[in-house]
Amino acid sequence: MEYETVIGLEVHSELNTATKCFCGCKNEFGAPVNTNCCPICIALPGALPIVNSEAVKKAILMGLAVGCKISNYSVFERKNYFYPDLAKAYQISQAEYPLCIGGGVEIDIDGGKKYIRLNHIHLEEDAAKLIHTKGETLVDYNRGGVPLIEMVSEPDMNSADEAVAFLEKLRTTLLYAGVSDCKMQEGSIKCDVNVSVHQKGKPLGTRVELKNLNSFRAVHRAIEYESSRQIEELEKGGKIFQETRRWDDERGISYAMRSKEDSQDYRYFPDPDIVPISVSEEYIASIKRELPRLAEQRKTEYLQLGLTESDADLLTAQRDYADFFEGVLKEFNEPKFVCNWITAEVFKKLNTLDVEERTIPLEPKALATMLKLYKTGEINQAGARKIFDELWENGGDPVQLVDSLGLKQMNDSGALEKVLANIIETNPKAVQEYRDGNEKIMAFFVGQAMKATSGKANPKLVAEIVKKLIK
Ligand SMILES: [Zn+2]
Repeated sequence: MEYETVIGLEVHSELNTATKCFCGCKNEFGAPVNTNCCPICIALPGALPIVNSEAVKKAILMGLAVGCKISNYSVFERKNYFYPDLAKAYQISQAEYPLCIGGGVEIDIDGGKKYIRLNHIHLEEDAAKLIHTKGETLVDYNRGGVPLIEMVSEPDMNSADEAVAFLEKLRTTLLYAGVSDCKMQEGSIKCDVNVSVHQKGKPLGTRVELKNLNSFRAVHRAIEYESSRQIEELEKGGKIFQETRRWDDERGISYAMRSKEDSQDYRYFPDPDIVPISVSEEYIASIKRELPRLAEQRKTEYLQLGLTESDADLLTAQRDYADFFEGVLKEFNEPKFVCNWITAEVFKKLNTLDVEERTIPLEPKALATMLKLYKTGEINQAGARKIFDELWENGGDPVQLVDSLGLKQMNDSGALEKVLANIIETNPKAVQEYRDGNEKIMAFFVGQAMKATSGKANPKLVAEIVKKLIK
């Protein structure tokens, strides 16, 4: 029998606001435990929450970036459940009236495009962090109350690949919109996955929720595992239960955690401490004007600069790549030349790093200066590579590096003639080959000249002089 897998995602992303969602505590990762807390975020009696307008604004920015309709009326509700990471025994969230409705993103899959719809985006607070150690559990409330947006998709995905492509698209968009740092290892982006299977043409199956997915790779593996588990179960006449399962990445299996609660189990009700938010059309329009240029827009601009489609795709794959490229152009406006260096040399280095660590460690200005020296013939390609390596590893000033590394290109034709006369004299065979019409032998002369000048000879000049001397 042919089965179809149906997948929906709930993606949580911490917003990069300066302070928490409902109090003035700092929103920062890595502070000493329980130092960014106050009566509001540890829920002392009588403490009253105040909505952080920056969090509302950033949630709306993301909504606009993925084509949501922004609600003019939005309400915070209490989602009630007891767990030690939640001091109030309820989480301030949104249910009935979320900030952003609808929208969606287009993903590239199997050489084609597919549109994945969003149901809504709502704003809520993060829970505290539990630290399990030697038989006891400690609570760090620094994260409690940090603003989160939850982006809930429609069940529009049918494979693990599609789910990961969707996640990657959301991540890129969050970064372009500038609302989250999306560091997966710091928990800034997390997701829960709903998976069900059904026979093609038959009603949808019972869905199972997967939790504890800490990397895109884990999401991929967990979906594949869960989808085969459900198909196997149905094939042998079993039943799928609506439940929450925990993914164990080490063992590569999921196991039942609890039966899945319905939303009524959380006894949502409007938080009486927080007035509903009213968002005017003028306010939405003003945020729209602040929306940074997104990947698609930048790609169009790069194509107009004369870059190829694939180069434009590479440069816009991450916002920091695009920002870097534009930063270099500001100092040295040679789009094609700059693009070639970045897509070849910069990406070669980036590709040796883990995906999470792929950031460019040098200043755009430093690369611009180096490329100018290269373009004007102050240094040759070998010299440019040496300086680039040095900038990547240790930073520095390219102009000074030319001197300290002794890379100034030899453009003195008198001196080069002397060097080449010697090479020609000691290699009569190569000279004969060149006379016989083997133009490729020129590379040999250039190589020899480089060797004799410790890589400083101007290769163009070398070729000219060799031609002249052999004639
Ligand atoms: Zn606080």
